[in-house]
Amino acid sequence: MFDTLSDRLENVFSGLRSKGRLTDADIDATAREIRIALLEADVALPVVKAFIASVKERSKGAEVSKALNPAQQVIKIVNEELVNILGGETRRLQFAKTPPTVILLAGLQGAGKTTLAGKLGKWLKAQGHSPMLVACDLQRPNAVTQLQVVGEQAGVEVYAPEPGNGVGDPVSVALNSIENAKHAMHDVVVVDTAGRTGIDQEMMQQAIGIRDAVQPNEILFVIDAMIGQDAINTAQAFRDGVGFTGVVLSKLDGDARGGAALSVRHVTGQPIMFASTGEKLDDFDVFHPERMASRILGMGDMLTLIEQAQQTFDEDEAQQLADKVASGNKFTLEDFLEQMLAIRRMGSLSSILGMMPGGGQMKEQLASVDERDIDRTAAIIRSMTAEERANPKMINGSRRLRISKGSGVTVAEVNNLVNRFFEARKMMQQMTGGLGLPGMKRRSK
Ligand code: GDP
Repeated sequence: MFDTLSDRLENVFSGLRSKGRLTDADIDATAREIRIALLEADVALPVVKAFIASVKERSKGAEVSKALNPAQQVIKIVNEELVNILGGETRRLQFAKTPPTVILLAGLQGAGKTTLAGKLGKWLKAQGHSPMLVACDLQRPNAVTQLQVVGEQAGVEVYAPEPGNGVGDPVSVALNSIENAKHAMHDVVVVDTAGRTGIDQEMMQQAIGIRDAVQPNEILFVIDAMIGQDAINTAQAFRDGVGFTGVVLSKLDGDARGGAALSVRHVTGQPIMFASTGEKLDDFDVFHPERMASRILGMGDMLTLIEQAQQTFDEDEAQQLADKVASGNKFTLEDFLEQMLAIRRMGSLSSILGMMPGGGQMKEQLASVDERDIDRTAAIIRSMTAEERANPKMINGSRRLRISKGSGVTVAEVNNLVNRFFEARKMMQQMTGGLGLPGMKRRSK
């Protein structure tokens, strides 16, 4: 997502780097290029216009800063304006004073509502809540079963009409679910509703009916970030129909241009609250405008990555690992194995990659790691002696043969792993040295 936009903006900025001072003509030319970049990314025209007008005005009026060169000043302004159109502050869920808090999900069929219910359930549970998911999509065959499946995966209770009761009435299901939640001490109820492939009155009326009956604290409009310009019409129709208090962008992992994501806040006036980045329940997070902006500008989303890493490793463990990485040869195959397994716990490699800064070659190398390889790699490392893991340089030809037999792979695969380990060690040293991650000490050579 946003790759093309990021690349184009990077080009615009690199053209500015050689300039000592920016004339008004330079700023106009830059603004034109940014405009094209945004339009190509499918950002809605009114949003592009407002964006460009602000960038131009602020760049021309920018006070001369000794700390920043002209390119940096423009990047700073573009970053701030991106944060603005993405909604500024991070908007958190509002919980009811008297539980249960009711969250209604609305959106087109296939937008990702049911998946979101599971993700939200899991996330709420991790935040210490006791959520319940409610199946009010009684139109789509299997929607109820699908919700039950995600509920089970999330370890969250699902309230659904009894099977065999015909189509059922979603309004009474919703109302009953809330009574049920009160008895069962659930403090948050997430109501999944029916969607259609296109907007239609009947679906909207049904959502309105449920809304009026349950008086939700939040109505989340789920939108597929891959649907391009049409996203805007859909968003407006839902705003004018059932209405919503927040937006959830789904499928941000796709390689579409991303215009919907950049337009929806400005066009609907409602904040983006969550982002979904994959089919797995963990591919989901609170939406932070400032992090998304820096990600678009190619600075990566280091904050999110660090937060996830912190959840995965405990602080001491992270510090020990950081020290080992920074000190070079102390980083062993044992650590490599542990780290690989920990990264796996953090989420899919592709979502982690998406959060890393531009980093061309390094990213490509990492992207070439096949997730299924991790298990094989683990098997290979487990076939090594403690001594070999601690000192991989000692793994000579005959040891490689023994390890390959032990783990049931070819010698070439063992070779490949050992080589990859040395590469990874080199790469990590470059990363920690170059980025100065908090908690990762830089060492002078
Ligand atoms: P609903 O009709 O709105 O309930 O949509 P679903 O939750 O059934 O999702 C439709 C399809 O999109 C399913 O195949 C999901 O696995 C997939 N999906 C949902 N969210 C995401 C996401 O963030 N990324 C990707 N790649 N797929 C998603």
